[in-house]
Amino acid sequence: MKIIRVNMDHLETRWEPVLPAPALSPAEGYERLGGRALIAKILLTEVPPQCEPLGPNNKLIFAPGLLGGTSLSSSGRLSIGGKSPLTGGIKEANCGGNGGSDLARLGVKALVVEGQPADGKLHQLHISGETVELLPAEEWRGLGTYDTAAKAQERWGADCTVISIGQAGEFLMSAAGVVCTGHREQNSRIAARGGLGAVMGSKGLKAIVLDSAGTAALPLADPKLFRTSARRFAKELIESPRTGRKGATHMYGTSAIVAAVNEMGAFPTRNFSTGSFEAAENLYGQRLREITLERGGKVGTACMRGCVIACCNMFVDENGKPIVSTLQYETIGLLGSNLGIGTLDEIAHLNRLCNDFGLDSIEAGAALGVAAEAGLARFGDKNSFVSLLEEIAAGSVLGRVLGQGAAVAGRVLGVSRVPVAKGQAMPAYDPRALKGNGVTYATSPMGADHTAGNAFGIRQAVDPLAAAGQCEASLKLQLDVTMLDSTGLCLFARPPVFGDPQLMVDLINGRFGWGWSVADLEEFKKTVLKMELEFNEQAGLTSADARMPEYMTREPLPPHNTVFDVPDAELDAIFSAL
Ligand code: SF4
Repeated sequence: MKIIRVNMDHLETRWEPVLPAPALSPAEGYERLGGRALIAKILLTEVPPQCEPLGPNNKLIFAPGLLGGTSLSSSGRLSIGGKSPLTGGIKEANCGGNGGSDLARLGVKALVVEGQPADGKLHQLHISGETVELLPAEEWRGLGTYDTAAKAQERWGADCTVISIGQAGEFLMSAAGVVCTGHREQNSRIAARGGLGAVMGSKGLKAIVLDSAGTAALPLADPKLFRTSARRFAKELIESPRTGRKGATHMYGTSAIVAAVNEMGAFPTRNFSTGSFEAAENLYGQRLREITLERGGKVGTACMRGCVIACCNMFVDENGKPIVSTLQYETIGLLGSNLGIGTLDEIAHLNRLCNDFGLDSIEAGAALGVAAEAGLARFGDKNSFVSLLEEIAAGSVLGRVLGQGAAVAGRVLGVSRVPVAKGQAMPAYDPRALKGNGVTYATSPMGADHTAGNAFGIRQAVDPLAAAGQCEASLKLQLDVTMLDSTGLCLFARPPVFGDPQLMVDLINGRFGWGWSVADLEEFKKTVLKMELEFNEQAGLTSADARMPEYMTREPLPPHNTVFDVPDAELDAIFSAL
């Protein structure tokens, strides 16, 4: 596999061989890295950590995971990374869809976008076989991601994968994500977090089109070992009570957890002012499934080819017209309860606008919650939030303030209750009632990002309301997800490999023949986190950035009336044993 360099200064592209790794340590080169790990290494090696995130020295990297492009279920996630305009530190965000698998099958280990076009014009990148072309895309300026994908597929073929930005990315807003088309109706998968859509906009890149027609699954060093391990992996997922055909993940998708998080008192409601929502029942996963099936929508579909879990849905309106694929838990929390909105139809409408404008629904939802607290919209009044989202898409002054995310919105609007860590909005778990997530939000190099180590899944083992034990639990989760994010595996496919690390080792050895052991795997995870922490340290982030917002340490959260009280000293020591 090779690296594609895209130089936006000179509008040139080139294939480049991958630097070999002379030893097991991923710190030695790029060869034994993928996804999030490769992004960390490229950024640490090639990008000045103190650079301006939207300037020419930052790089935007697209990297499939190590297992991307194989037949392994749920392994095609696409990692996108760069220095974040939101956190000022390193950022990797990944998305489902076919982008990761397509890129891998095209033989691309990483696509690295560098520099900025002097003329400020928009461009599209088309990759097909060995051909990489950078072409004008000025005619797509101002289009949302749905229209951009449609135009690109009209030009290049309906089976192409399109990775694009919407208006938010063009306006260089820190709430902008990167949107990727997926399998069948799953046309809007988003690498949402950290403002990477703004980095793509700053490179003058409106869209990347991948045509993987005629490509085959990637070669295997030990086909027997890989196929035996991949079959066992899929079998365990299919037979699991959680991810199998009768399991909650398949039946209800991520919305399966609305009821549980609400009962825990961690469901963000009206700008994180309480942890339970009186209309939560309307938003339960069961309700989403019922409504969707009654109207002729879809549930239990896959975002990428070959995923045996198939957790996605296509939410439709009362006339059966598709609104959004997929309506997810985090969006239900941030654009629903956090805004006092209690119907799935209203949330789906707001979600569609965010997807179209290329906005992270978490960051946008938190910024809208802050705006409502400032009196610019009314909790529970969908139309008042639609108006604000339209301001964002239009690039008005108010829209540009909100599009910079919750932290900037809070500063401009004079609101001090702003749910952010490292400048990034919190996902839909209030850290006062799920303290392990608070530790992850504060300490992860990724900022407030549940995918960096979500303690919801271990709430039976570690009391979510207690301060004790949260740092140990968060660290273990943070380490484990580095492996998922570096192999392209979906978080929902974690049980077989978390339960038996040797299975992950066998998959890697089957694919590459590296002769890894479980100890090598453990070392790999630590190395990824250490590279990210080093980048952030060089970028100027300190322990002062590893904190919860002050109000969350003194303002009790109903219904449990708890504050975030994990001691600062414990937060500061979390990575000391790495
Ligand atoms: S489990 Fe869901 S999100 Fe994950 S790869 Fe499968 S369909 Fe996509």
